[in-house]
Amino acid sequence: MTTQDITRAKKLTEVKVVSRTDITPDLLTMWIEKPGGYTFKPGQYCTIGLDGIERAYSIVSAPHEESLELFVELVPPPIGNLTPKLWELKPGDSVTIRPRAKGVFVMDPGPPNQFLVSTVTGVVPYVSIIRDYLYHGRQGNGFYVLLGASYVDEFVYDGEFTRLSREHPDLITYVPTISRPAEERNAGWRGETGRVNTIVERYTEELGLAPEDTLVYACGHPGMIEDVKERMLPRGFRVEEERFWKQD
Ligand SMILES: Cc1cc2nc3c(=O)[nH]c(=O)nc-3n(C[C@H](O)[C@H](O)[C@H](O)COP(=O)(O)OP(=O)(O)OC[C@H]3O[C@@H](n4cnc5c(N)ncnc54)[C@H](O)[C@@H]3O)c2cc1C
Repeated sequence: MTTQDITRAKKLTEVKVVSRTDITPDLLTMWIEKPGGYTFKPGQYCTIGLDGIERAYSIVSAPHEESLELFVELVPPPIGNLTPKLWELKPGDSVTIRPRAKGVFVMDPGPPNQFLVSTVTGVVPYVSIIRDYLYHGRQGNGFYVLLGASYVDEFVYDGEFTRLSREHPDLITYVPTISRPAEERNAGWRGETGRVNTIVERYTEELGLAPEDTLVYACGHPGMIEDVKERMLPRGFRVEEERFWKQD
């Protein structure tokens, strides 16, 4: 079967890469065309592919935006299969996209406090959820975004969250934390330190967030998610999760 046969059989659409920004050697953001009629809920993922290899990518952009924004981490060869191919792409090249976005890691607006925990690319669903919330001028929830990374340059949406937390201090609290503060790449860092999962209890206590009115979301690294659940479930918190890969 040729790539074109596979594309037809799976009802895939070919879309063009609009632009890409290389953040570090293993992190990039990419904008791809949104097929006509393509709909999704903030927090859902699209399935894109190249040469018949398809993978899930949560969507950074909110539904009202013109293109689909993705934030991708390279899994280098020989382990990674699709991401090394994505790294070769330039604007104008094509990828396939499945007709429907999927996923249940979407906002439950019921609990007033939305406690959003993630590592690096795990921030993606939260960016979409918050952009959409602000776009529609919704009210009634507070977002607490705890974001972990090894290095400060991996906080790709740092500028956006810092600005939003200044513009909407009652709506958004943003806490980035780095796990390797002693390394040269993090020189000058004055923020929180330690793995994000190790600061969740302290922050819920300091912020006065009670289990009855707080929903915890954990997205990204499977080890981080397990640890967040081990810490928060016994305290009575509900935890929603999205794992980006399986731990070996
Ligand atoms: C619902 C969902 C949403 C996702 N959203 C994103 C996203 O927004 N951005 C993003 O970069 N990825 C995301 N992923 C992961 C993505 O689907 C791919 O698995 C990833 O990009 C690696 O693809 P690959 O083909 O290069 O490697 P694969 O061939 O899929 O993986 C090879 C091996 O590497 C492991 N692995 C996969 N990803 C990582 C990683 N990041 N770090 C360490 N080991 C890994 C896998 O478990 C596997 O053992 C998501 C996954 C799911 C299930």
